[in-house]
Amino acid sequence: MTRPRFAAIGRPTAPAPPLPESLAGAIHLVPAESLYAMSRRRQIYEGKAKILYEGPEPGTLIQYFKDDATAFNAQKKGTISGKGVLNNRISEHVFTLLGNIGVPHHFIRRLNMREQLIRQVEIVPIEVIVRNVAAGTLSKRLGIEEGTQLPRTLIEYCYKDDALGDPLVAEEHIACFNWCSQEELHDIQDMAIRINDFMSGMFAAVGIRLVDFKLEFGRLYDGDFSRIILADEISPDGCRLWDMTTNEKLDKDRFRRDLGGEVEAYQEVARRLGLLPEGGDNAVLDLESHRKKKGS
Ligand code: C5P
Repeated sequence: MTRPRFAAIGRPTAPAPPLPESLAGAIHLVPAESLYAMSRRRQIYEGKAKILYEGPEPGTLIQYFKDDATAFNAQKKGTISGKGVLNNRISEHVFTLLGNIGVPHHFIRRLNMREQLIRQVEIVPIEVIVRNVAAGTLSKRLGIEEGTQLPRTLIEYCYKDDALGDPLVAEEHIACFNWCSQEELHDIQDMAIRINDFMSGMFAAVGIRLVDFKLEFGRLYDGDFSRIILADEISPDGCRLWDMTTNEKLDKDRFRRDLGGEVEAYQEVARRLGLLPEGGDNAVLDLESHRKKKGS
């Protein structure tokens, strides 16, 4: 099977998504030029939670964060109003800090509330799952009680294929089907461990346990050469984040398990990371109260 060289998988041009209802009363928060730019850009890929548009320069893309949420391989679908704004901001923060410690990544800069400029890469078709505490499919698969601290960090791989439900695969499958080279896999493993060490500390400092998370990597080409860099996003959509004292879930499990309070949980993560003004007029993110204040 030949795979497209870049994440820029050709899809028919589609209009930019309409302004989300949740932002209808807060139109001044979306710069007019960004809406104008959105309507002109060529959409090249639409995923479950993000859209990729052609970027302003060759080799760049614009990553747009939607409010759409899916779970269980898109069998469950919904909308978490304001999620895209929060994930854009949280992911920007985490990628920036990871860049500061030398992890190469695709993030260039945030453009506005829902969009960021990124480098175009060829996505490695593997989801890298890093686990510190048993939860989710690991608990189910092996009968380990959720919350059990793992004796060592566990890295798992899933083959990125929606039709197959992103099946769990072994390193041997990756080598056998040449989804990436041995060298690339070593780079991916090294980076995954560094990212886990850094993020575990970052979240622990704000009273959050990093239970597990998913990473995606891509090849950045320079002529005939390529190197592996971190891609996609890092946000509560792809991490399990538990409050350290109460074990309350502050991530997408709130949606997966019908716990409610999804946006509040994501907001709490952003607040603890210092991304929301403490006690201030949270006009951007607290959309409900913002709308009420505006009387719309
Ligand atoms: O569901 P599971 O326990 O395998 O998920 C492990 C971690 O990877 C969770 O943090 C989950 O949010 C993330 N994940 C993801 N996207 C997937 C599969 C898992 O973000 N397709």
